[in-house]
Amino acid sequence: MTDTLFAKIIRREIPADIVYEDDEVLAFRDINPQAPVHVLFIPKRPFATLNDLGDDDATLVGKLVVAAVRWAKAQGFAQDGYRVVMNCNRDGGQTVFHIHLHLLAGRALHWPPG
Ligand code: C5P
Repeated sequence: MTDTLFAKIIRREIPADIVYEDDEVLAFRDINPQAPVHVLFIPKRPFATLNDLGDDDATLVGKLVVAAVRWAKAQGFAQDGYRVVMNCNRDGGQTVFHIHLHLLAGRALHWPPG
């Protein structure tokens, strides 16, 4: 069991600008946005890193992606596009150890990332 900043956001112990919620997923605006729109989609069940996911978690991860896509489309980003990314551990650039999917939109994004 991990207890991170994101677990505190789920429990409403620290504030966040929440944009989407269902039984399994919460989404809120990143406090340090890297694009005009930068939202984090997290599972309410805590997994420290992507390495902690197993076969039984495939549906949950799919729900994260689908929730992000649905939200991006509802915000009008379907045609211009957007990026979803999940970072894992040090070399992946992960800093909060509760898995999260970044949704970045609203500007042309560079590739490859730095
Ligand atoms: O993938 P990574 O672990 O680096 O992403 C963590 C993200 O969480 C960062 O983009 C950071 O700005 C964000 N964050 C946040 N609210 C907090 C702490 C971190 O949105 N209270």
